[in-house]
Amino acid sequence: PFLCSLGRISAGGVGKSALTARFVNDTFLSNYDPTIEEVYECSSQVDDTTYSLEILDTAGVDQFHTLNERYIKSAHGFILVFSLTQETSLREIEDLRRRIYHLRGDDRQIPIVVVGTKLDLAAEREVSQELIRSYAVRWGVPFYETSAKRNWNVRPSFEDLIRQMRAR
Ligand code: GDP
Ligand code: MG
Repeated sequence: PFLCSLGRISAGGVGKSALTARFVNDTFLSNYDPTIEEVYECSSQVDDTTYSLEILDTAGVDQFHTLNERYIKSAHGFILVFSLTQETSLREIEDLRRRIYHLRGDDRQIPIVVVGTKLDLAAEREVSQELIRSYAVRWGVPFYETSAKRNWNVRPSFEDLIRQMRAR
């Protein structure tokens, strides 16, 4: 299956590439290059089955770029990424989510997980658990709080998405 990590770049990176690198290579990407856009291929075992995955780590300032529309139309699942240290990055996911449903013919069953990154930067945290809970209820999609740096909760978020994709 093909899955796609999306998130807006407003003031700096939300952590899409670091999250992907942690899952695919079990390494932490400390340098920030907002221009890197790459497809990673990996396999991952979930519940005794091994899945081959293609993960597109998107880049670019304008996520509503036509190229992204093509990805949104073809992906089997989406990881919507925001930073727990930047409340605007969560609000920006709202547009992205609306865009996905619009481009996919309002299919509400499309596999999605929302991932908040940088959980280790506790002193810089801007997004409360209450706010996350209210979004999770309103959107009806699972949310995960992660740290690519500390390797907290990265695998569970991808596994949730893989289970959703498998159920389709
Ligand atoms: P992208 O533009 O969304 O792909 O963002 P990146 O993955 O490149 O991350 C932007 C910056 O945040 C980089 O310097 C990363 O090292 C850093 N970063 C990403 N995830 C984490 C994390 O979980 N914890 C910490 N402390 N820094 C992170
Ligand atoms: Mg990136």
